[in-house]
Amino acid sequence: MIEMPNGIAPDQCLIGGQWRPPAGGEYLDLLNPSDGSTLCAIARGTSADVDAAVDSAKAALNGDWGAATAVERGRILTKIGQYVLKHVDLLATLEAQDVGKPLTQARNDAIALARYLEFYGGAADKVHGQTIPYMEGYTVYTLREPHGVTGHIVPWNYPMQIIGRSVGAALAMGNACVLKPAEEACLTALAFAEIARDAGLPDGALNVVSGLGAEAGAALSTHKDVHHISFTGSVGVGKLIQKAAAENIVPVTLELGGKSPQVVFADADLDAALPFLVNAGIQNAGQTCSASSRILVQDSLLDEVTTRMTEAYGALIAAPALEDKHVGPLVSHRQKAIVNSFLEKGADLTIAAQGVISDSAPDTGAYVAPTLFADVAPDHSLAQDEIFGPVQVIIPFKDENESIAIANGTDYGLVASCWSRDGARQMRMAKKLRAGQVFVNNYGAGGGVELPFGGSGHSGHGREKGFEALFSFSTVKTVATYHG
Ligand code: NAD
Repeated sequence: MIEMPNGIAPDQCLIGGQWRPPAGGEYLDLLNPSDGSTLCAIARGTSADVDAAVDSAKAALNGDWGAATAVERGRILTKIGQYVLKHVDLLATLEAQDVGKPLTQARNDAIALARYLEFYGGAADKVHGQTIPYMEGYTVYTLREPHGVTGHIVPWNYPMQIIGRSVGAALAMGNACVLKPAEEACLTALAFAEIARDAGLPDGALNVVSGLGAEAGAALSTHKDVHHISFTGSVGVGKLIQKAAAENIVPVTLELGGKSPQVVFADADLDAALPFLVNAGIQNAGQTCSASSRILVQDSLLDEVTTRMTEAYGALIAAPALEDKHVGPLVSHRQKAIVNSFLEKGADLTIAAQGVISDSAPDTGAYVAPTLFADVAPDHSLAQDEIFGPVQVIIPFKDENESIAIANGTDYGLVASCWSRDGARQMRMAKKLRAGQVFVNNYGAGGGVELPFGGSGHSGHGREKGFEALFSFSTVKTVATYHG
């Protein structure tokens, strides 16, 4: 059984402030990965629904939402954030059932969603243009303006956080949004839209069309009246989104995958590092774009790190999400098969440790035991490719130069960290690590609403979160007045 805010049915799309069935009258089953049961049906939205959603977003821009001042937009976002806080338990339970995320982690996501709305609510009236000295007789200034209709295509792993950072920032700048959540997990997207409607967000400012990526997602990313696309997901689909954006000549923000390293030097404070080394790999069962799947360790510390991480892994339990243990199931049996195929590729490697799958975990759930591989070569597939499961590899290195070569030696560049007590080394590493976020003596896993986030290489481009997102979700108009 699932409980939605205000008792709304989850099998509808929100278009122009009204919940309606999908135009094609077709539905998809949403599964609970903890036991494989069917949670509910969701709408299989198609291009007809996306067209209607884009039309209603355009109408909102020409109506109350477009007329709202920055202060008014900020106030409504702040109010939505307060409403989200009232629904934290409900949202967390939905996310645990839908994604398989342990309840505490799901609660943290709901609280982060509220925090994004608070941050962007407060920021809405603090982004402004400039006056620019120009030729004699001119006054020149710039205006920050919304793009117009923004499309938001999000994955299943952190729906609430990703909606908070992209939809929150887009609304703050006065855009009207069409959101396409993932077909594997979209209940909190639908619940959030209802909470926002309840809090008084004008009709059409946020529209939600659930459905398949190749149908609703493709219709949104190729739509001629969508003026900016924010995509979070896989590299393969990211390429399709960028091609579609090229056809329409619109900007895109791509938040894709990662193979993020933590670099542990011999002078590191290992007691401080250890929880970060492990948690950053197994949080959300490793299905985190900024998961730290590579642990680089200086030779002299290799045995100690391996021993201590092995002990930590021995205590890890994978169990149904509502039991709220360390690790839940993966989101689907499809994802479990992908992770198992990587474990098979690691048959030539040494498994240092594995967590356990609880006896309470049904065979029908998508469970994988957290697995740590020791002494892995940097060019091994498990050290190069994103696994998106609770799997980490330990890679030894000799010195700083080698650590940088290994850390930067994948196609990705999302997050990295350096553990060392040497201040000069911290500075050098922060400059040389190829990543959108570098943490020194901690690991944020993309955390921090205020901190700009995004990648380079196959991790994508553009920045979300923090003030940077407000620039991504707006454009600059220059006004030059000649007055003599
Ligand atoms: P995915 O790319 O398959 O799906 C993401 C979204 O895109 C879903 O809503 C899906 O329906 C939609 N989609 C699929 N095909 C589409 C198409 N042809 N046109 C338009 N939309 C389409 O990714 P996933 O398997 O759901 O998520 C896992 C991936 O997401 C991982 O690679 C992970 O690293 C990445 N990710 C990145 C971040 C980040 O912030 N960098 C965050 C979370 C996940």
